[in-house]
Amino acid sequence: CIRDSVIPLLRGGFMFAADLVRYMDVDLQIEFLGAASYGEQTVSSGEVRLTLDTTLPLSGRDVLLVEDIIDTGLTLAYIQNLIKSRNPTSLRTIVLLDKEIRRKVDVEIDRCVFNIPDRFVFGYGLDSPGGFDRNLPNIVALKE
Ligand code: 5GP
Repeated sequence: CIRDSVIPLLRGGFMFAADLVRYMDVDLQIEFLGAASYGEQTVSSGEVRLTLDTTLPLSGRDVLLVEDIIDTGLTLAYIQNLIKSRNPTSLRTIVLLDKEIRRKVDVEIDRCVFNIPDRFVFGYGLDSPGGFDRNLPNIVALKE
């Protein structure tokens, strides 16, 4: 029976998640959640908006949430609460990039791949101001 659900958080998490699931040798389903907090800015607005919701029930699932980057933590905190309210068996979170110095709220992260300084970055799923460049294969920092 399939019990694992991987949930990439859109839009930024799609490329990291696509690479990650290729190495996961377990039966899993993929669901998507979408959140937006930046608008056209390069600093988080602090207001989280759900832009896409899952379609299958999450109760009884071991959920792995896949996020591109954590900054203030507000987006992840909001999304984690939303997932928990749907009674999964467990919830784990992996983030590719962590700007820890910017954290405003405590968030539980099970795995972070890279800690990065307080710079706006884009590419590899993350957008540049205006919503472009998510298709770049590498991650670059915006010129200051
Ligand atoms: P937080 O809610 O933790 O402040 O912000 C997390 C969200 O803001 C991420 O999901 C991502 O969409 C966006 N974000 C934070 N830092 C960056 C960045 O350096 N570049 C891009 N493109 N998005 C970012």
